Amino acid sequence: MRKAKALLFELGQPGRCAVDLPQCDVPEETSENLIPAKFLRKVPAALPEVSQQDLMRHYTGLSQRNFGVDSGFYPLGSCTMKYNPKINEDVSRYSGFALAHPLQDESTVQGALELLYNVEQYLAEIAGMDAVSMQPVAGAHGELTGLKLIRAYHRHRGENRTKVIVPDSAHGTNPASAAVCGLDIVEIKSNSDGSVDIEALKNAVGQDTAALMLTNPSTLGMFETSIKEIAEIVHDAGGLLYYDGANANAIMGIIRPGDMGFDVVHFNLHKTFSTPHGSGGPGSGPIGVKKDLIPFLPVPVVVKQGDRLHLDEERPLSIGKVHAFYGNFGIIVRAYAYIRALGPDGLKQSSQDAVLNANYVLSQLKDDYYAPFERFCMHECILTSKNQKSAGVRTLDIAKRLLDYGYHPPTIYFPLIVEEALMIEPTETESKETLDSFIGVMRKIAEEAKEDASLITNAPQTTVVGRLDEATAARKPVVKWKA
Ligand SMILES: *Cc1c(COP(=O)(O)O)cnc(C)c1O
Repeated sequence: MRKAKALLFELGQPGRCAVDLPQCDVPEETSENLIPAKFLRKVPAALPEVSQQDLMRHYTGLSQRNFGVDSGFYPLGSCTMKYNPKINEDVSRYSGFALAHPLQDESTVQGALELLYNVEQYLAEIAGMDAVSMQPVAGAHGELTGLKLIRAYHRHRGENRTKVIVPDSAHGTNPASAAVCGLDIVEIKSNSDGSVDIEALKNAVGQDTAALMLTNPSTLGMFETSIKEIAEIVHDAGGLLYYDGANANAIMGIIRPGDMGFDVVHFNLHKTFSTPHGSGGPGSGPIGVKKDLIPFLPVPVVVKQGDRLHLDEERPLSIGKVHAFYGNFGIIVRAYAYIRALGPDGLKQSSQDAVLNANYVLSQLKDDYYAPFERFCMHECILTSKNQKSAGVRTLDIAKRLLDYGYHPPTIYFPLIVEEALMIEPTETESKETLDSFIGVMRKIAEEAKEDASLITNAPQTTVVGRLDEATAARKPVVKWKA
């Protein structure tokens, strides 16, 4: 096991200091003179006293313990941890973008507004939709906004529709967003090949159906097979179709939610459009809508008046604001740079490569690990530890063993409807060599399960800390220095 690093406090020696302050050239005052006694410490703060070099080495060492897409393969299914080209970072830091104030007069931020307007146009084209709002700042936020639009649409037509149909292969945020929106959820089961059960859908729709939310590719990493039929059933019942497009990395430039009959879609710029993500943000979950929903879009809406761009707040049917100003602008700039750099052909190629890579991994590992679905996958594939169960090895153990080999584990125990799932999303940005190394390690772990399962069940051995009680580590992390 690698040794735990000394804490900064343990490195310190009284009197060491990381900065050289100049001689004080103003009269000195004591803290007792400046701060009321009741606010003063009884004992001096236990601050670390270290030299600048020790300080630098300490934090550089900690930063090297971090793991990210820039340090290694990160096949975290459902998260699209692809490489983020650094040009996106450069562009988002241009002073005209980074230093603009959201309350600046419109005439002084025409470039920023044009960028917003153009990204909306690009995403509308990619989605096959009539308009886009960049305001939502996460995928789930896009869902909530989209459902609010759908509710406003039905209410405006004098219809009281309160039920949202959600297949059990949908992302967990779908039912959560519907609940937050005050709508009732009707769950329908998937059939044995992981698709929406059409009979169950027919039984679920009715006059109270507000919408169906479809995650496509589903959380099983598979393309929904009967979309045309699904769309017809829901539309015939007077409901609208919501497309969870967080998995758009599988479909860009190949198919469009709008063409498949969907009325609302959200994308995750922080997945598909190459914005770094993790640790909860910042993100961006723009929504695309069909014509009939445009009047309800959140304000402000960027509109073009001749060659001027204007933020329109005067929209009587709008659901109002869903975020301060117009969303997470820096993320939108990154997506702009990414879309412009790749162009339509590049985006399509990205999706094709993402799907190819996932199927390659699946094809190479399905003899060693159990593959629950006998189908091609889209941009991510599901395996399970069923073959290793008799050796006492669970999916969690395999994930921990991968740490010993220097890999970030795939998503585990998700999707919930597959027992002991390992969900691998390699993304298009990884080379065949990287995929082959990962495949080699996964095969090695399958071998270990047969020969000496304790290597896996006692993993990780090479990391700074061994296996933690994860619930306690998450809820009551020990981060304090104890004297
Ligand atoms: C990631 C994801 C979401 C949620 O996106 P957030 O930005 O985390 O809110 C929704 N649906 C699917 C299919 C996802 O993969």
